[in-house]
Amino acid sequence: RRVLLTGANGFVGSHILDKLLSLGHSVRAIIRSQSKAEQVLSDFPNYGSQLDFGIVSDITSPGAFDKVVQSTPPFDTVIRTASPFLYRVISDREFLDPAIKGTLEILKSTKAHSPSVKRVVITSSCAAVIDFSAPAASNLKKVYTEDDWNPMTWESALIGTQNNAYQASKKFAELSAREFVENEKPNFFLVTLNPPMVYGPIRHSVKSVKELNQSNSRIYELFINSKKDADLPPNGLDTYVDVRDFAIAHIKAATFAEALGQRFIICGGQISSQNISDLLRKNIPQLEEQTPEGTLGKNFLPENAFDCNSAKAEKLLGLTFRSKEETFVDLAKQLLEIEKSN
Ligand code: NDP
Repeated sequence: RRVLLTGANGFVGSHILDKLLSLGHSVRAIIRSQSKAEQVLSDFPNYGSQLDFGIVSDITSPGAFDKVVQSTPPFDTVIRTASPFLYRVISDREFLDPAIKGTLEILKSTKAHSPSVKRVVITSSCAAVIDFSAPAASNLKKVYTEDDWNPMTWESALIGTQNNAYQASKKFAELSAREFVENEKPNFFLVTLNPPMVYGPIRHSVKSVKELNQSNSRIYELFINSKKDADLPPNGLDTYVDVRDFAIAHIKAATFAEALGQRFIICGGQISSQNISDLLRKNIPQLEEQTPEGTLGKNFLPENAFDCNSAKAEKLLGLTFRSKEETFVDLAKQLLEIEKSN
């Protein structure tokens, strides 16, 4: 296959790139600048002509992807992961525009200039699925499925909280893509993948813990850059998937006939802060003094925790998920290495 991959330098994107290349696919990685292309090349040095690059400095500008979607041999697959996911303060439009316009631009360019593309896979999120504003009672043990959408409106997206803007960016990007396909009837089918938190070791190189992607930096700050007697961090969104499993989900979404046109929740399980602390303190001696202790074995998950259901992806894509130990212990060991190298 010949695949166009956006966000190839990111946390999720670089794992997808790794899988695509090692399976023998030919990939054009889309990044924002030449220096980012060089970084990706230094992380994937051995693939020769199997890996090439397209630079798109502003994914929201009209026709932004017109040139990079053209290729000989032609593309048959597009995977779009690029989208801002950050806690640092950016404006609402800085979330919404790259997500929504960035999605539409790649779909328009693909339709107009790359008719050989048969499938576009979009990395969405459970942020587009879960109703975070619901009173606890109505989320009580709720199990979210592919039929659910968050209730965000344009008005609520623009009231100035980052969470709102992010949740809206993922919902409206996904809906815009579905609307585009319905109205424009391009040659390609769409597949969207909706993970909750994505954690796990990074495949791309980062120079310091300050450069970590958002979700892993949360684990670093709360569980590693801390102390045994610190308060146990709040659970936050306690559903997650390992980034390596999530990358495999993209490959299956790009290749399985069963995936065509579908929306899939990709969730490996639930985990509480106590559960993360216990795993790290048990498996990594150095963390016994660094990771908040809480109460060993207690409070694994609140009684009323909602969940996300991956049964559809397990059935249609044959997805399986690795253990909590593998995800969090592998990640924490790597975070300690990065911390040490600073
Ligand atoms: P990273 O920050 O590691 O990667 C984000 C990627 O998107 C980078 O390649 C980045 O490029 C690119 N990007 C961000 N903003 C823009 C922009 N304005 N214009 C062009 N490119 C941009 O994050 P993740 O790998 O975690 O996220 C990848 C995808 O996964 C996103 O769509 C995110 O919504 C989704 N996701 C992630 C979750 C998680 O827990 N990590 C959970 C649910 C969904 P650059 O380096 O140039 O900024």
